[in-house]
Amino acid sequence: MTKQEKTAIVTGAARGIGKSIAARLAKSRLNIVVSDILYEDAQKTAKELESFDIKALAIKTDVSNAGDVDKLIKTTLEEFGSVEYLINNAGITRDNLSIRMSEEEWDQVIDINLKGTFLCSQYAAKAMMKKRFGRIVNISSVSGILGTAGQANYASSKAGIIALTKSMARELGGRNITVNAIAPGFILTEMTEKLPDKVKEDYLTQIPLKRAGTPDDIAEVVNFLISPSASYITGTVINVNGGMVM
Ligand code: NAP
Repeated sequence: MTKQEKTAIVTGAARGIGKSIAARLAKSRLNIVVSDILYEDAQKTAKELESFDIKALAIKTDVSNAGDVDKLIKTTLEEFGSVEYLINNAGITRDNLSIRMSEEEWDQVIDINLKGTFLCSQYAAKAMMKKRFGRIVNISSVSGILGTAGQANYASSKAGIIALTKSMARELGGRNITVNAIAPGFILTEMTEKLPDKVKEDYLTQIPLKRAGTPDDIAEVVNFLISPSASYITGTVINVNGGMVM
């Protein structure tokens, strides 16, 4: 089989939802840049992706650091020649009630989730604009729509991602670059594994489909949003949360 010529960067792709997205896009025959702050895990993921007969490269990136993001895009262009797809998936939680939340907990979450999505999109969009083609998918959250007690920092970052998605969709549409967001609900990953059982049970009562989501549920929708079938969709937020938001 021949190697593919189109390239997707997936941030936070070493594990969890990002890893599933990377695998789904590799199955769609895209070359993949596995960007993550966890370099060893990113290398392992990249190695696994080569079984799809595509090129995969791990790049250590802290998405909240402009120097790292600049290097991510430059290295991608050097190694693969272009970047057509960007999936902004890297994200963290630092939960606390608002009145107890430290400035550091606030700043870390906003820096990685919101500023990181902005920086990666800004640097990637410059390369995409030259080619007059690009697809950006941002991973927001149901928290960014409903708000969540104990997650003022996280919910604000995810709501910010929705506004960023719409703003950039308006700015970049004329260059054939679409920008969309997905709002996952309760998805089983290491991020949600650490939640107390009571919180997990409460989540399930709020889900009409009566089950937690899987990383693959999100990956399939990312694959749709970057496909030709979605070429007339931009600035939208797709709920993938079993009906938690409707
Ligand atoms: P996860 O398992 O914790 O994976 C997130 C990945 O991002 C980790 O490998 C993490 O590395 C990496 N990362 C953290 N900080 C980074 C940085 N500064 N630069 C680059 N990479 C960084 O989380 P997940 O559950 O798969 O979540 C993926 C995305 O979906 C996140 O944006 C999350 O907010 C969103 N989401 C998840 C759920 C859910 O129920 N799981 C629901 C709604 C939205 P470290 O391990 O070092 O932190």
